[in-house]
Amino acid sequence: MTDRKNPFPLSELLRHPDLHESFRPSTPAVQVHGMTGPCVLVIGGGIAGAGLAYALAARATVTVLERETHCGYHATGRSAASFTETYGSPVIRRLAMASRAFLALPPPGFTASPLLIPRGTLTVARSDQLDALDAMLNDARRLVPGVHRLDGDAVLRRVPVLRPGYAAAAMNEPDAMDLDVHGLHLGFLQGARRAGCQVVTGAEVAGVDRAAGGWRFRTRAGQVFQADILVNAAGAWADEVAAMAGVAPLGLQPKRRTALTIDLPPGVPGQGWPLVDDVDGEFYFKPDAGALFMSPADATDSPPTDAQPDELDIAIAVDRLQRATTLQVQRVRRAWAGLRTFADDGNPVVGRDDAMDGFVWLAGQGGYGIKTSPALSRICAAAVLGLPFPPDLSRFGLVEHSLLPHRLRRASVPVPAMGAQPQ
Ligand SMILES: Cc1cc2nc3c(=O)[nH]c(=O)nc-3n(C[C@H](O)[C@H](O)[C@H](O)COP(=O)(O)OP(=O)(O)OC[C@H]3O[C@@H](n4cnc5c(N)ncnc54)[C@H](O)[C@@H]3O)c2cc1C
Repeated sequence: MTDRKNPFPLSELLRHPDLHESFRPSTPAVQVHGMTGPCVLVIGGGIAGAGLAYALAARATVTVLERETHCGYHATGRSAASFTETYGSPVIRRLAMASRAFLALPPPGFTASPLLIPRGTLTVARSDQLDALDAMLNDARRLVPGVHRLDGDAVLRRVPVLRPGYAAAAMNEPDAMDLDVHGLHLGFLQGARRAGCQVVTGAEVAGVDRAAGGWRFRTRAGQVFQADILVNAAGAWADEVAAMAGVAPLGLQPKRRTALTIDLPPGVPGQGWPLVDDVDGEFYFKPDAGALFMSPADATDSPPTDAQPDELDIAIAVDRLQRATTLQVQRVRRAWAGLRTFADDGNPVVGRDDAMDGFVWLAGQGGYGIKTSPALSRICAAAVLGLPFPPDLSRFGLVEHSLLPHRLRRASVPVPAMGAQPQ
């Protein structure tokens, strides 16, 4: 175990006065000309659009338009539901840390059951991968002093289904959690609705025009909406939505990732296992309601679409699992795929477009959009309302510039260093 001090102790964060202060629909509404704040239209009802609506609803008139018949049909409903502070770029990891207190202690009435469920993560390395493991440990400890190394025997005791001798060592992140994605998404949506937000499903935005200093939207079904501010929370479709509004796309790239569940053999008690992932990012697995969830950790470029799993990726997943463990896969219960959408530098895009007044980005969350959603929602709400970057989030070493869209257009502008390189 390391003796380095945790820079962001949870007990202290939970006592912080800003924990829910600027992130709660019960905050008194700002009245502007008899209306509640600016009129904001959010395109996309996934975790991003829902979290933003929750953070804004008391201080603006908010409408969320979602193309599908239910919110969360795309990336949000297809995730691995994992919360770790060691996975992703330094900016992502700081965003996760800044989100942890809200997830650990959401406001009263937000959800009926805990959003974080203890799980832990073991990042395992074969003997030929030990250099990579040591580099990862050194990097992870800078922000998460609680991570530590386990030797091969200890790893096998934690996860007896690994092939004897497979893992030479592992990085243990004991405070990694499972996330109740549905509970979080529903809590955001219900809280936003209670504060007056309108959520319209089956409403694909098919046309966007400038109108009287604001925006006019036409859905495929012919409905018309108007707003002062457009927020682009359209996930894999974010660049398409930008183009529709006459805004230059940012080169966001959706990447397909496959997931599947398999039966565990009778008598194999997997429930207490941590999430096990490979140090080179070749697979991860964890118990899931009596079955085993796994992914080959693929990242295949894709156009924005209703992603479907590819037979070859499923076969690769099964092969990698069978090489690392003694499990023999008899049956794939369910397989699915989803799109993780990335900016070039691996960091999300949050903030006002510098070339188009009234256009705000909330996109590019990659494979981390659930665990970072509390912090990202608040950062985006501040941008929409023209408020400064939330000061309590700056404490985590987060800076506005590393998220703003124009960093991707002006490569010559240096982005402030945030510690180690992305994984
Ligand atoms: C296999 C997999 C595993 C993952 N694991 C994790 C994890 O463990 N932890 C984590 O934090 N993250 C994880 N992620 C990433 C996470 O799921 C995403 O970052 C997050 O869901 C993105 O949310 P979103 O709201 O931006 O996108 P989405 O959920 O895709 O929502 C965007 C919405 O916009 C709507 N839309 C698009 N265009 C229009 C239009 N013109 N009009 C109206 N609506 C429109 C779409 O229908 C869609 O519902 C994972 C993702 C995948 C695929």
